[in-house]
Order: sequence, then structure tokens, then C-alpha cells
Amino acid sequence: MECCRRVNPFRACTGLRGLGYLMLAFVAAIVAVSYYAVVVYTWGPLLLGGGDAAAAAAAVLVAFHLLLALIIWCYLVVVFTDPGAVPENWRHSSEDDAMDVNSSIVSDNEGAFNWDATYPDSERQGSAPRYCSRCQNGKPPRCHHCSVCNRCVLKMDHHCVWVVNCVGARNYKYFLLFLVYTFIETVLDTLVLLPNFIEFFRDESRRSSSPGNIAVMFLAFVLNLAFALSLLCFIGMHMSLVTSNTTSIEVHERRNSVSWKYDLGWRKNLEQVFGTKMLLWFLPLYSAEDLHNIGALHGLEFPTRSDAVV
Ligand SMILES: [Zn+2]
Ligand SMILES: [Zn+2]
Repeated sequence: MECCRRVNPFRACTGLRGLGYLMLAFVAAIVAVSYYAVVVYTWGPLLLGGGDAAAAAAAVLVAFHLLLALIIWCYLVVVFTDPGAVPENWRHSSEDDAMDVNSSIVSDNEGAFNWDATYPDSERQGSAPRYCSRCQNGKPPRCHHCSVCNRCVLKMDHHCVWVVNCVGARNYKYFLLFLVYTFIETVLDTLVLLPNFIEFFRDESRRSSSPGNIAVMFLAFVLNLAFALSLLCFIGMHMSLVTSNTTSIEVHERRNSVSWKYDLGWRKNLEQVFGTKMLLWFLPLYSAEDLHNIGALHGLEFPTRSDAVV
């Protein structure tokens, strides 16, 4: 049992950094296959025919390109935005400078992974200042050490191999928008490729199309359908987390609470991630006012409910 406690399952996660770059190539390949199937092979040629088919094709192609632009925008922003680093020598504002760091603070277990040491009761309840022995720095509330990035990340949600970055306080909104727009795009692709997919099972269609085109169309349909279904579940899970102001890491912690201390009501919880300007909820942007006023977007301090019972 002791040997199991000494094994750090997250050490293997360092390999995820390399895997992330492969994922970038995979994402590009999926986009290329979908683009060819929807724009070049299926709907683009209909534009030349005129009539209702051309009007429908124009609508599909405009929606496709608009969503693609939003996906690429959100993707680049989530990849290149720092999710939030802990300032050097950061200390809890309530901490006394003379506090004995070695004896009273909650510390990560150096080297070996120890769940109890990483998520001890005192840390779950936020009753003791937290310290990361790997970063040799204080840990703000909701901050966790990422074994892949090898550093503490503010309001860490998870490390995402798809975006080769951690998802945390400063890029969580961009990540969610990336998920939502990718979901809408994959649903659109699935629907507009469906007639061709059904056609594929007819012999005459197979004879009139090249095997390469049929393979790309088939692959695009199956990939988009699979992604749409997976993303639907993932988005549902994240919407539940956002409206309760919880991160993926905090789910187990919330289960132990009678009332979750960060849950300020669904509207305020949404504003903590998306900002107060509803028009900007749908773009990977924040108003200067929100960036100034919403502390949660910086990841160091978070408002809590006054009646929180742990
Ligand atoms: Zn750390
Ligand atoms: Zn990370």
C-alpha cells in the first residue's frame, strides 16, 4: 500500500506535453478534412448552379466560415493566453509575515504523489494557508500545481492536451467558447454532410464519385458526428461547473460541502467567468472595466458567500 502511495501517476503526464503537439496536427487534419468535404466537395460546387441550391449553399458556406473563424480565434487565444501564474513570493493577505512556513502551512508532497498531502482536509476547507513545495511559493485559493506544466496555475481547471496549455483563471472563458463554437460547427458539418452520407450507400453514387472523395466525405461525417456527441457531454459538464462556480478539480471538494462557498448564484457565477457585458460573452474578449473589477479573472482572490457552511 505504501508503495502505491509513493507512485506519482501524474509523472506520466509530462509525456502529455509532447502529445499536445501531435494533437495540434490532429486538430489541423480534422479541420482540413471537414473543409474539403463541406466546402470543396459538397457545397462549394452548388454555388455555381444558381437557384435555391446556390442560396442554400451560400448560407451553409457563410455559417461554416464564420464558425471556423471564431474557432480559430478562440483556439489561438486559449493556446497563447497564460492561464495564470502565481506572483513570486506570493503570500495570503491574511498571513502573518512571521508565520512559520515549514510547520503550519499545507504543503504538496515533494516528489511522490500523495493525495492526502495534496488535498488535505485543512486545504479543502481553506482553513490553512497553502504552500507549493515544488514551486517554493504560496498557493492562492483554488490554485493547483500542474504536473505537465510543472508549475502552479491559478484557479486551475485541468491541463488540456488539445490546446497544449493549462485551462485556468485567465483562459477558461476562451476554452469554453472554443468548445461551444466547435460543437456548433461539428453539428452543422454533420447535418450538411448527412444527405451525402446517405447517398454513399447507393451503388450509383459510389460509381459516380472517386474513391478518394467518398473516403474524405465518409471520414468527415463520422469524425464530426463523434466530436459533436463528445462535445455535447463535455459542454454539459462545464456548464454545470460554471453555473455553480466550481472547477473540474474542485468537484470532489464541493461534494463534501453543505453549501459551496464560491457559489454566488448562477448569474454572478457566470459573470465570474464570462464578464458582466453580455455582448462580450460570445467573444474571447473582456471589457477593460471587467478586467479591473472582477478579481476572479486575475485568479488570486475570489468572493465567497457569507453563509457558506463546509
Ligand atoms: Zn506549484
Ligand atoms: Zn498544465
